[in-house]
Amino acid sequence: MARLARSLDRLKASYDVVIVGSGYGGGISASRLARAGKSVAVLERGREWLTGEFPTRFPDVRAQMQVTSERMRLGSDTALYDVRIGDDMHVLVGCGLGGGSLVNAGVALRPDARVFADEVWPGQIRQDGLLDEGYARAAAWLAPARDPEGQTRTKLKALGAASRSIGAEPVVNPVAVSFADRVNAAGIAQPACTACGDCVGGCNVGAKNTVALSYLPDAARHGAELFTQVKVRSVTPGGPRRWLVHFAPSDDSKGEERTVAADVVILAAGTLGSTEILLRSRARGLALSDRLGARFSANGDIIAFGYGANVPIDAVGVGHPIKPGLAPIGASVSGQLEIHDPDDLARGLCVQEGVLPSSLAPMLPVMFVPNGRLLGALQSLISGVYKGPFARLQTFFAVSHDSASGRFELNGDRLKLSWPGAADEPVYKRLDEILSTLVGAVGGSYVKNPLAGTVMGHQPATAHPLGGCGMGPDRDSGATDHKGRVFDGGAGQGSTAVHAGLYVIDGSVIPRSLGVNPLLTISALAERAMIHFAADHGLTFDVAPKPLPAQAFVPATSPGLLADPVAG
Ligand SMILES: Cc1cc2nc3c(=O)[nH]c(=O)nc-3n(C[C@H](O)[C@H](O)[C@H](O)COP(=O)(O)OP(=O)(O)OC[C@H]3O[C@@H](n4cnc5c(N)ncnc54)[C@H](O)[C@@H]3O)c2cc1C
Ligand code: SF4
Repeated sequence: MARLARSLDRLKASYDVVIVGSGYGGGISASRLARAGKSVAVLERGREWLTGEFPTRFPDVRAQMQVTSERMRLGSDTALYDVRIGDDMHVLVGCGLGGGSLVNAGVALRPDARVFADEVWPGQIRQDGLLDEGYARAAAWLAPARDPEGQTRTKLKALGAASRSIGAEPVVNPVAVSFADRVNAAGIAQPACTACGDCVGGCNVGAKNTVALSYLPDAARHGAELFTQVKVRSVTPGGPRRWLVHFAPSDDSKGEERTVAADVVILAAGTLGSTEILLRSRARGLALSDRLGARFSANGDIIAFGYGANVPIDAVGVGHPIKPGLAPIGASVSGQLEIHDPDDLARGLCVQEGVLPSSLAPMLPVMFVPNGRLLGALQSLISGVYKGPFARLQTFFAVSHDSASGRFELNGDRLKLSWPGAADEPVYKRLDEILSTLVGAVGGSYVKNPLAGTVMGHQPATAHPLGGCGMGPDRDSGATDHKGRVFDGGAGQGSTAVHAGLYVIDGSVIPRSLGVNPLLTISALAERAMIHFAADHGLTFDVAPKPLPAQAFVPATSPGLLADPVAG
């Protein structure tokens, strides 16, 4: 696919709309507002990754890690995996054009309806009927599908063998993956998934339905200008348009700040990014709600392992092209065990069988076996990690509910997450119990955190951070309203006054745990926010797939090629 991003020297002085971040919230906003005829610039701190460029060897993965804690900072600002080490909890997010979609498993689920019955949401979310339309639009564009061969995948069969011990049966679940060659809604040819399992390392086939292969090329084709390796620091009112966005090139923290002006600024930098930008903007004088930074939820999410099962699992990615002698294993998640509690929403959970990407394969002996470095060397000499104990390694992604009691603040200039007692949230005990039962049922040992002996310690970790700019009915209960508009903290108590033209549209506006993986809900809320935006600003846009000019048909063997490439 032709690159979408432009060089920063082509950034104009002002736009109708500047969007910060390019994950689900940013990609959807850019597509919809570009379709509405607005001049749109997207500023993304990470780099652009084309299909085929994702790291495949461990040294390359290591080079794509950025790790931040209160005391240290390692790696480049543009590295693909952004790990935040916290005193109470760790968080993993993606960094790059396409945001978390580049490195996620693509599980696309709608939460239990009781989630939205919670009074923490502004009433309009339940009442105006647009949430359903948001889900429908997001599903049409992200095209979640079930692996037609899901039931035959060894890892799902193993989860089935284990879950029978608790009288349950797993189901094949929808993932944002193309299981057959197709031309997607943005007019891009995507080849069928090869079932290599490498989704969370980045799909080098072009079969994962990422934001980078859907909403962003659609935005670019409708005139949006995309800029990468640009880190936004704050937003202030004023300038020739209504807002000034302050930024510096990524990896240049001491570099001079520049600004771009816009009538509308949409923060879509994810839970950590948007909250940090608003906290810094408040420190620079912008009046914001006291709720900013509050209601952080980890979505009751953990990754855990079972080691030494007595059945084959086949849950280590096999690479692209598939390594000689190995067979397809399925996408990163083929299915899940769902446990619903009709009386208590919080006790519901999903346990998904996951895959570790092939690029991490050399690390597995080191992670799981005492003196594993030696074993790793032997294993790779003899049979690699695809035979022996690591062919029986289970990886679980589990999702449930927590109390959303985390809080972000700025510590100096750096975002800090505090959640005293997070490790004691009841969800973790519940997940430990069920996962040890499942692992034990197939003869394995439950390994909660193989990195506990490292800088990671025993704190819980999440890849589903939510909240920080949580929506609420008014400025006393939320940082944003149901449309993503940022409340004016200078207005009186109970006020619903907002800063005109300042929006947050991403996972940070979700004020509680969802109990399922969040991408579909973040996308549905973003699509819904765009419907409101159009109505409020007298705009129209259609969301029909971009028709493909007949002469420009691209064969599906050319992954991710744009039918009519965007000029660079
Ligand atoms: C390994 C992994 C697996 C996952 N699996 C699933 C799954 O299967 N299903 C699911 O539903 N969810 C999954 N998730 C979570 C999901 O990907 C995220 O919830 C989702 O991407 C969040 O979308 P968003 O729009 O809020 O922000 P993001 O997708 O995080 O996008 C925010 C973007 O803003 C950029 N940004 C941040 N700060 C700045 C700044 N200051 N200036 C400019 N740009 C900035 C970031 O680089 C990023 O590109 C997974 C996440 C990870 C890490
Ligand atoms: S399993 Fe492989 S080909 Fe299929 S979506 Fe995941 S990374 Fe892409």
